[in-house]
Amino acid sequence: MLDAIVAASLSSDVSCHIYGHSMKIHCPCGAIISDSTDRLPRKGHIIPDQEWDSLKDALEKVIGDAMARRIEGEAAFMQVHILLGDASRLVYQCRDCGRLFADDRQHKTHIFIPSSHETHKEILRSRADVA
Ligand SMILES: [Zn+2]
Repeated sequence: MLDAIVAASLSSDVSCHIYGHSMKIHCPCGAIISDSTDRLPRKGHIIPDQEWDSLKDALEKVIGDAMARRIEGEAAFMQVHILLGDASRLVYQCRDCGRLFADDRQHKTHIFIPSSHETHKEILRSRADVA
């Protein structure tokens, strides 16, 4: 629903800390969002629609180049990772209050506050089998 998110604020009331390979977001509600492993149900990767077609074309070119053996498999693997990383931004959701923390083009984090307590707090989950 379009009215699920009603407000956004700049990152002045959020703090992010990176410890080695893990990152923690201190949500204004008091919860800590930890990013220390893969396949997190409260983390997502946003690919803007303005990037979608060019990303798809670039991925198809890498696959075509690899299939035609114009590039090695390892080079194709690296190109895919670079393309996905360049086109996407991170988003996290707090499991307690439902706030979304989404990065903009400059990788600055913005907070989006749910319009009510009934707003879904697992909007980024894609599987039921992961904690
Ligand atoms: Zn929260």
